[in-house]
Amino acid sequence: MNALHTETLASLRRRLASREVSAEESVRACLDRMAATEPRIHAMLTVDEAGALEAARALDREGPDPSRPLWGVPVTVKDALVTRGIPTTAGSRILEGHVPFYDATAVQRLREAGAIILGKNNMDEFAMGSGTENSAYGPTRNPWDTERIPGGSSGGSAASVAACQCFASLGSDTGGSIRQPASMCGCVGLKPTYGRVSRYGLIAYGSSLDQVGPLTRTVEDCAMVLQAIAGHDSRDDTSDPRPADDYMAALTARTDLRGLRIGMPREFFGKGLSPEVETACLRAVDACRTLGAEIVPVSLPHTDAAIATYYIIAMAEASSNLARFDGVRYGRRASGCEKLEDLYIRSRSEGFGEEVQRRILLGTYVLSSGYYDAYYRKAAQVRRIIREEYLAALEQCDVLCAPASPVTAWKLGEHSQSPLQTYLMDIYTLALNLAGLPGLSLPVGRGAESGMPVGMQFFGRAFAEADLLSVGAVLEQALPPVGLAAL
Ligand code: GLN
Repeated sequence: MNALHTETLASLRRRLASREVSAEESVRACLDRMAATEPRIHAMLTVDEAGALEAARALDREGPDPSRPLWGVPVTVKDALVTRGIPTTAGSRILEGHVPFYDATAVQRLREAGAIILGKNNMDEFAMGSGTENSAYGPTRNPWDTERIPGGSSGGSAASVAACQCFASLGSDTGGSIRQPASMCGCVGLKPTYGRVSRYGLIAYGSSLDQVGPLTRTVEDCAMVLQAIAGHDSRDDTSDPRPADDYMAALTARTDLRGLRIGMPREFFGKGLSPEVETACLRAVDACRTLGAEIVPVSLPHTDAAIATYYIIAMAEASSNLARFDGVRYGRRASGCEKLEDLYIRSRSEGFGEEVQRRILLGTYVLSSGYYDAYYRKAAQVRRIIREEYLAALEQCDVLCAPASPVTAWKLGEHSQSPLQTYLMDIYTLALNLAGLPGLSLPVGRGAESGMPVGMQFFGRAFAEADLLSVGAVLEQALPPVGLAAL
C-alpha cells in the first residue's frame, strides 16, 4: 500500500470512512511530510499544528460522518484567504502578525465538509506575480526541481499539493494564479466561473477578476473540493444565486469524448510557445481526438491585447483595493511617526514590496483624471470585446483548449530583472478572467527538454465546471500519469 500522504483525496476519504485510518493519523502523515520537505520547498507560511491535531481528535471522537464529504481530510489554504485564529498575511509584510477573527466562506465550507486546515500557503505578495518569488517571506521552490519556481501566485498551494504535504489546497486566480502553478507543479487546478465560489474573506487583488478554486492531484479530488466550496453566498454580492451542479456525477458522465467539439484557438498554438510545451499539448489534443472528440480550429483575435488590458484593469483595481492598508486598521504600523500622513507613507513604504508598489503606482496612474479615458476606459472596452470573442468561440465548440503557460517552470531569479517579461508569460491564462469564464488545468506530460510538468487548460461556457471536469476525468485516464515529484 502507498504511504498515506501520497494517496489521493478520494482514496484517503475511503480509508477514513472505513476507519482504516484516523483523522489524526492523516494529519500526522501530512505534518511529518511537511517537516521532511519544508526546508527544501517553503510552501507554507504558517503551520497550525496544534489546531489541526485538535480538530482531528475532535473528529475522531465523533467518528466518520458520511454526510461530510471531506471528513478528516487535511488541506492547506493560500494565505490570501482569511482564517479564523490563524495568521493571514497575503505574503506581505504589511499584514505581518494579522490574525483574522473570521473564516473566508470557502474556508468555512471546507471546515463544514469536515476538512482539517493544516496551515497557510506561501504566495506572491497580494497575489501579484507568476512565480511566488514576490513573497515577502522568501520564495517557494518547485518540488520537481528545487532550483525552479513553482509558478504563481498560488505557488505555495501547488507545491504543497505536489509535495504531498496535504490532499488539496485552495488557491485564488486573478489572471491564472491557480492554473499556471498547477501546470508547473503537475497538479490539477480549477478556476471557477466568476461568481461560482464566494470571494468573501478573499483578500482582494482585482475584485472583478478574482476567483477561489481548488488545486489537487486528480480531477476527482478537484470535483470533491469544488463541490464543497461552490454555491451562493449572501455575503458576496457578486456570488451567483444558482445552485452548484453535481460535480461528482460529472466524473462518470462520459466514458470517452465522442460528440465533444474541442476548439483550438490558433493564437494559442503559435509564436512564443516553447517546443516542449507544444509537443506535450499537441499529444494531449491527439489523445482527445482518439477518444472521439472533434477538433475545431477557432480564433481569438484579441489575444495579443489581453496582457495590456488585464494589467491595466488588475492594477487599477489593486490600487483601489490596497488603499485600505494604511498602518492603522490592519497589521504592521511604522513606529515613531509624528504626523498621520507620515504614518501612512512610512507604513506603506515599509510594508509593501517592490512589485506591489509598482502596481499601486501604475494603477493609480491609469485611474487618474486625464489618463482614465486613455487607459482604464479603453481597457474596459477591450475587455468586453475579449469576452464576446470567447463567447463566440464557445458557440462553435463545447470547450476550448490551450497550453497553461508558454514555458515550463523557469529557474529562480531568471526573470527577476524584468517584470514585463513575467507579465508576458501570463498570455494563455489571463483573458479567461477578463471573460469571467471557468478553466481547468490538467497535467498532460513532461517537457522533453526540462523534464518539468506541462499543463493544458480547458475553457468552458459560464457555469460549465461540470463539463470541464467530465472532459478532464476522461483525458486523465487516457494519458500516461505524470506521477509524483521525487522530492
Ligand atoms: N500573474 C498575474 C498577475 O501577476 C496573475 C496573478 C493572479 O492570478 N493572482 O497579476
